Amino acid sequence: MKKPLVIAIDGPAGAGKSTVARALASRLGLDYVDSGATYRAAALKVIESGISPDDEEAVSRLLAGADIQLDTAAVPPRVLLDGRDVTEKLRAPEVTLAAAKVSRLASVRAKLVDFQRSLASGDGVVMEGRDIGTVVFPDAPLKIFLEADPEERARRRWKQEESEGRNPSLEQTAYEIGRRDQLDAERKISPLLAAPDARRIDSTHLTAEEVVERIVGLARERGLIDGSEAGRTPDGGGSSSPRPAG
Ligand code: C5P
Repeated sequence: MKKPLVIAIDGPAGAGKSTVARALASRLGLDYVDSGATYRAAALKVIESGISPDDEEAVSRLLAGADIQLDTAAVPPRVLLDGRDVTEKLRAPEVTLAAAKVSRLASVRAKLVDFQRSLASGDGVVMEGRDIGTVVFPDAPLKIFLEADPEERARRRWKQEESEGRNPSLEQTAYEIGRRDQLDAERKISPLLAAPDARRIDSTHLTAEEVVERIVGLARERGLIDGSEAGRTPDGGGSSSPRPAG
């Protein structure tokens, strides 16, 4: 059986990973997986249990029994925590901060990395996160490290927050992004890091479409997709018919 194609997109918060990964998956007929959603679901369980995200032992014990699933066939994808659809709860600011804390724990990462690996099936997947190219899929044939200036990342995240009905100030958003960058970059296990073989793309002055174009170009150059762009190369054994991003 053919190996599913994996395109890894890593980078800091607000660099445009979700928009780009989703559009790229749709364009290439691959599944889309937001690995951050799995850490957010874990954080939600911690919050709902009344445990402090800083209490490492209690968090590890609690999350060992968590059932976290992604329904990648749904558009947009849904996140299930212990069988309950929690998608709408995952973007709340307290969940965001708790996710950055619980994601520092080795036991939590081991469990979620295993789960994320299991999601590369069928034709393949575009997976976004912080450690996809370094830890989850170190052999991925195409790894992107997506960056943007901190001010631009804060501005994008602020606009997103507004469109989702929250109204933080730009200063508050910039502060929170900076704090999260620091937690993600300084943690001991799987810190936010570009894989040595990742292609860096600075999206500060690019639209999401332009970033997608560049990645499609790289995938074509490497023979990962065929000329029509809508599927795997025949020698990769993939079908060339697109299917909706899941
Ligand atoms: O990508 P998103 O902002 O939703 O991720 C939430 C948090 O989950 C990040 O700040 C990071 O701490 C953690 N995360 C991670 N590894 C990933 C994806 C997310 O540690 N692959």
